[in-house]
Amino acid sequence: MSEEDPKEVVNNKPSEDLPPLIKIRNAKKWFPIKAGMFSPVTAHVRAVDGVDLDIQKGETVGVVGESGCGKTTLGRLVMGLIPRTEGSIEFDGMDISSMKRKELRRRLQIVFQDPGGSMNPRMSVRSIIAEPLIVNGLADGAELTKKVSELLTIVGLKPNHMTRFPHEFSGGQKQRIALARALSLDPEFILLDEPTSALDVSVQAQVLNLLDSIQKERGLTFIFITHSLNVVNHISDRVAVMYLGKIVEIAETDELFANPAHPYTHALLSAIPQPSVEENQKQRIVLSGDVPSPANPPSGCSFHTRCPVAVEGKCDVDEPELEAIIGGHKVACHFPVEAGGSLPMLND
Ligand code: SF4
Repeated sequence: MSEEDPKEVVNNKPSEDLPPLIKIRNAKKWFPIKAGMFSPVTAHVRAVDGVDLDIQKGETVGVVGESGCGKTTLGRLVMGLIPRTEGSIEFDGMDISSMKRKELRRRLQIVFQDPGGSMNPRMSVRSIIAEPLIVNGLADGAELTKKVSELLTIVGLKPNHMTRFPHEFSGGQKQRIALARALSLDPEFILLDEPTSALDVSVQAQVLNLLDSIQKERGLTFIFITHSLNVVNHISDRVAVMYLGKIVEIAETDELFANPAHPYTHALLSAIPQPSVEENQKQRIVLSGDVPSPANPPSGCSFHTRCPVAVEGKCDVDEPELEAIIGGHKVACHFPVEAGGSLPMLND
């Protein structure tokens, strides 16, 4: 990795002139379906089905979509936790699959939704946070204790918390411990997989603010996976909307919220709770039908079976490409909603 220029990351604004830290091209992850262990493969679940995405150093990209849209699988591909079926994923110019496991874990870290589930309840907080440092031979003895103490302070806990055990902490505090552990190896990238979904709203805001300040201080790069558009609005520089294994819209956060172009994004935005019951009822776009099976995605545009403005003979036949409509705002739709436009209210 080249020497870091502190000017590269200023006020959380990544530089687009530099090569991306993460470069994803046509990434696919298809899981085979078999009737039994020795039976032939009968079909594939296309969890991730051709994703292209560049992420700049210092950037936070929020990935949103309903359950089963492929966002978590995409995160695991980026982390090198599962092999891809097709395509390429590079980190700092290197193929993820060619990086040694130790280097991968040092430079790329993950924070899960359920921090308690990823901690051994019999280990003290000191042991939990110190483990990666010990495994990598980076500190021991008094130096290790000092490092754990510093990490606890960074995440807003007290050094004397290191003698306690996970069950003695609230959900928000456990997530802070998980973040301290993720930061222990001084990584460049952290995958945040629904890190605030299990927390109360007030605690969510605290954890989001903490992540934001730590990112600014350290020039970290985040992928933030969530089903909550409220959360990505708070923390992301850009938002990628996924549907059935593909990115259907991507834009800078302000642009996506101001001018959503894909009908699916409109539906997701309309589901954000509003202050009054009347506003909620007035604005909500209710999509018809269920999310199709990723083992048997619809022809043409995979959203056409639920899209309120689908055009027969076009949307069910031709698959739209993810194309730029303005600047970095891209959408995969034959008939994107114009800036400031709206969709018909199906529940009128
Ligand atoms: Fe709807 Fe057609 Fe656009 Fe797909 S391509 S989102 S079906 S309008």
